[in-house]
Amino acid sequence: MSIAENVASIRREMAAAAAACGRDPGQILLCAATKTQSADAVRQAIAAGVDCCGENRVQELTAKLRENAYEGAPVHFIGHLQTNKVRQVVGRVSLIQSVDSLRLLRAIDAEAARQGIVQDILLEVNIGQEASKSGFDPCQILPLVENASLFSNICIKGLMAIPPISHNPGENLNFFQKMFQLTVDIRNKIADNVIVDCLSMGMSGDFPDAIACGSTMIRVGTAIFGARDYAKESSK
Ligand SMILES: *Cc1c(COP(=O)(O)O)cnc(C)c1O
Repeated sequence: MSIAENVASIRREMAAAAAACGRDPGQILLCAATKTQSADAVRQAIAAGVDCCGENRVQELTAKLRENAYEGAPVHFIGHLQTNKVRQVVGRVSLIQSVDSLRLLRAIDAEAARQGIVQDILLEVNIGQEASKSGFDPCQILPLVENASLFSNICIKGLMAIPPISHNPGENLNFFQKMFQLTVDIRNKIADNVIVDCLSMGMSGDFPDAIACGSTMIRVGTAIFGARDYAKESSK
């Protein structure tokens, strides 16, 4: 199947999942997870109508920006970002989805201040509380959001989660529900630079469940591009 056919098929599944829970499919964005994909594949996905692209590695982002690969769609950063690389990301992407530590939050704020901009971000939540994954502990989120005004060059747009890899439908429902509850809790404690409209969760294997639990952005790689060839991934 071509990238265009894959995107069309995902759109149908998104619509069905939204209809099943009475949601408007127009409120759910499709982010193409473009790690290891060529500029040409990225262009095909954008032509097929994905809402945005999400890149994991700074070097790939930089290379594809240089190739104008994302023309026609916003690009987000969705991978682990080292503080010494924030300069290459802040101001170049419309959303940093993967802010996973206070240290990174401070570094992004400082770089955005230096550039004289406000950087939109999501807080990444380690919802499965897995030792192998980065992200804030769920209990850190509310205090952080309450103190968001300390970061004057950051706007927190919502939350992002990468739950444990699921092999069967329903496996991550519990984590998706917890994420949704977290956004509800935040809405009751809103600060000026916090608008938690975005709940980024759901990947190729579990996005219908994520949509059922209130996801507003799914990040899909394999189902759009096919299995990844990591040999093609640019080195760090
Ligand atoms: C790769 C990746 C995805 C997409 O994963 P698939 O299972 O290929 O759909 C989503 N989110 C992040 C952060 C990723 O790194």
